[in-house]
Amino acid sequence: ARSQKLTSNGKHNTTQERPNLQHLRKVATQLEKSRKDLPIWAKKIDIRWALRHNDVLLLNGETGSGKSTQVPQFLCTEPWCKKQIVKVEDRNGNEETIPIGGMIVITQPRRVAAITLAHRVAREMGSPLIKGASGEVGYSVRFDTVVPLGAKIKFVTEGMLLQEMLHDPNLRKYSAVIVDEIHERSVDVDLLAGFLRQIIHGDKKGRGGIPLKLIVMSATLDLGGIEAFFAKPGTQPTYQPGNNHGKVLAAHLLELEVEGAVESGQWRPSSDESSSSWGGISNSGDEGNHSIYSMPRHEEKKCASESQPKPLPKGDFPRSEAYYGVSENGVAVEYVRGRQHEVNIFYEVNPAPDYLHNALQTILQLHVKEPLPGDILAFLSGQEEIETLQTQLEGYAENIVKTLPRMKVMPLHGSLPAQAQQDVFERVKEPFTRKIVLATNIAETSVTVSGVRFVVDCGKAKVKQYRPRLGMESLLAKPISRVSAIQRAGRAGREAKGKCFRIYTEQDYLQLEQDDLPEILRSDVIEAVLKMKARGVIDVLSFPLMDSPNIVAMEKALLQLHMMGALDDSGNLTTAGIKMASYPLPAALGRVLIAATELDSDVLLEVIDIISCLTTDSEIFLQPKSEEERDDTEIARHDILDRRGDILTLLNTMRRYAAENADRTGWCRQHLVSVRAMKMALAIRKQLRQLCFQQKLLKFSPPPDPVAVESIAPERAEYILKAFLKAFSTRTALLAPDGTYMTTIGRNTIAIHPSSVLYGKRVEAIIFLDHVFTTKSYARKVSVVQADWITRALEY
Ligand code: ADP
Repeated sequence: ARSQKLTSNGKHNTTQERPNLQHLRKVATQLEKSRKDLPIWAKKIDIRWALRHNDVLLLNGETGSGKSTQVPQFLCTEPWCKKQIVKVEDRNGNEETIPIGGMIVITQPRRVAAITLAHRVAREMGSPLIKGASGEVGYSVRFDTVVPLGAKIKFVTEGMLLQEMLHDPNLRKYSAVIVDEIHERSVDVDLLAGFLRQIIHGDKKGRGGIPLKLIVMSATLDLGGIEAFFAKPGTQPTYQPGNNHGKVLAAHLLELEVEGAVESGQWRPSSDESSSSWGGISNSGDEGNHSIYSMPRHEEKKCASESQPKPLPKGDFPRSEAYYGVSENGVAVEYVRGRQHEVNIFYEVNPAPDYLHNALQTILQLHVKEPLPGDILAFLSGQEEIETLQTQLEGYAENIVKTLPRMKVMPLHGSLPAQAQQDVFERVKEPFTRKIVLATNIAETSVTVSGVRFVVDCGKAKVKQYRPRLGMESLLAKPISRVSAIQRAGRAGREAKGKCFRIYTEQDYLQLEQDDLPEILRSDVIEAVLKMKARGVIDVLSFPLMDSPNIVAMEKALLQLHMMGALDDSGNLTTAGIKMASYPLPAALGRVLIAATELDSDVLLEVIDIISCLTTDSEIFLQPKSEEERDDTEIARHDILDRRGDILTLLNTMRRYAAENADRTGWCRQHLVSVRAMKMALAIRKQLRQLCFQQKLLKFSPPPDPVAVESIAPERAEYILKAFLKAFSTRTALLAPDGTYMTTIGRNTIAIHPSSVLYGKRVEAIIFLDHVFTTKSYARKVSVVQADWITRALEY
């Protein structure tokens, strides 16, 4: 059997060996001490007892306090967490005997977090993480599930749990659901919260009367609203502004600022400084004067605002019932204090128009001037910026500062493989002296980077935003909220006193919004509406959500789904709609898959190949960094580039890659294609083919592969593009007389993105699958279509 070997440094190697249980136990014993040092351990009994008496627990704790790794372990041995055999009524009113519970499922906003956490917890428990073997911990994310036999703890993405609910609306396998990182407020977590609330307050007949425990965990959110959401109907939340229940660290820090405890340092950029070739950070005198995160102050503040804390009874179990009684509204609240040292804040005085320039300067200055040890964590807006800065920093490290201590530059974003994310937990080793982690907001609360003393914050993050004028979503780099800025700064003070350099002015900071808008209020709600419909919600407009999108947006989504053929005239899901909701794909791509079999000629295999390439975590094509490189890229990819656009180019890429039996890695390198993305695309392709076979859309499994070298015949290309038009008819544009493109809906100017094979080309009409807004409005994943195809698609 394939098994996983865990090396002493925590790397996961897949080998053919059987798990070495003795070694795994030894590793677990070694990790025990650091586990027990985590702040959450002081709350172990409180957490257990709170859940013995209540079904819902809101747990608030600083990032790194141990919530995600420890809480499932605290709970999986609890008496309520056992499989029970009960009688329930099936749909036809017949009694059946079924098992309920026994497992804990814990949700994560990102797939890579689910995988890394599962590995970490498995290591801590000394348990192998291998499909088919016995083990305590598993994970399940889109296109990748490893759940050992008898697993008690399962890490999943929010989307996966929603998907499970399609088949098991009462979550019968589970005794408890832990919703982690709820403050990120993705659309999926908001939907989950709505469904979980229904289970918790429902009649529980579907679970044979056995309650489902719910633990909601967060690092930054003011939990007052969430407590009210889960409170028993007709009761009051215990949260009151000013009492400590549900108040969080970030809020405390905000209070401190509001009260004027902030004194910012000022950082002058390089030109003012003569002592270093990089310029320097102005010495702001006595560091103590510039503290905003003074732990003692924070502590004092917190205690003062606490409403008459009850004295803790001595000893271990059992605590008195009176202390941990049933909360009147059914919701218990616990707060875990993290470790937070003082952090000095410095603002940029002269921000450059290109913040990357400031970031580069700041990082180099810090590296040159600040004492060791002390790693640097820089928050940038997205993967592209991270890659650009990484190249620049590595260039400097190689060429200019050879004589200086070596720095190790590491990217950290959601599209990295689990192993690369694992590396940020490690301390730097010789010959490196300092690690420089370039991260997206993933490092704000979701991943704890060790050793950080310096934070560089660009003040921006890429967010999905629905743009009603365009009728579509686009990715925008937007200013972060104050809560985020404070979280980011806090990352510098986890292990010792730290410094945070904000690459924006204090004035900019003061103008930031207090909090982020939940995704459901700023995104296209089509996915949310489809998911609700698929789970039997008849009236989606009155489904309980923590924040409801406005009715116009919901109605528009219903209309769009109707246009796609997912809903019938009475608003019920059609067979196509049911299929779309069951695919592990965005609704529109699900629609394309179905369309591929509806046209006169079946182009399903081709469409599966393309969709597989479109749904990988990271981009298939490595992007050229300069115009010169762009020419090289075109030469390197000459045999896969299709002048008809990116959709067919992706198809060529998948076909050639799949046909390449000898050296796929070499092939990817030669074509400047991401090896990892292609591996993932191939795995997705396999699963989508299986799924289509199960649904009888495909006749063979595996289907015979077409000859790769042939170019795609014009009539097949037409059907493929028409299948995409069925779902993306609103993402089309026509060439205007002045050479620009105008969207068919909304009549907005749009340009073809440099990443497209059609960049700089003029064609009659285009379809595009993605839209980004940077300096202007860009269409990405673009293909040539005919204007009359669009007209017909829009009529439909
Ligand atoms: P929280 O959920 O409160 O943010 P976690 O339970 O994720 O905290 O992490 C607790 C501690 O365990 C952190 O200090 C982190 O450094 C460590 N840790 C978590 N995951 C890993 C991992 N995969 N490898 C090494 N250390 C880890």
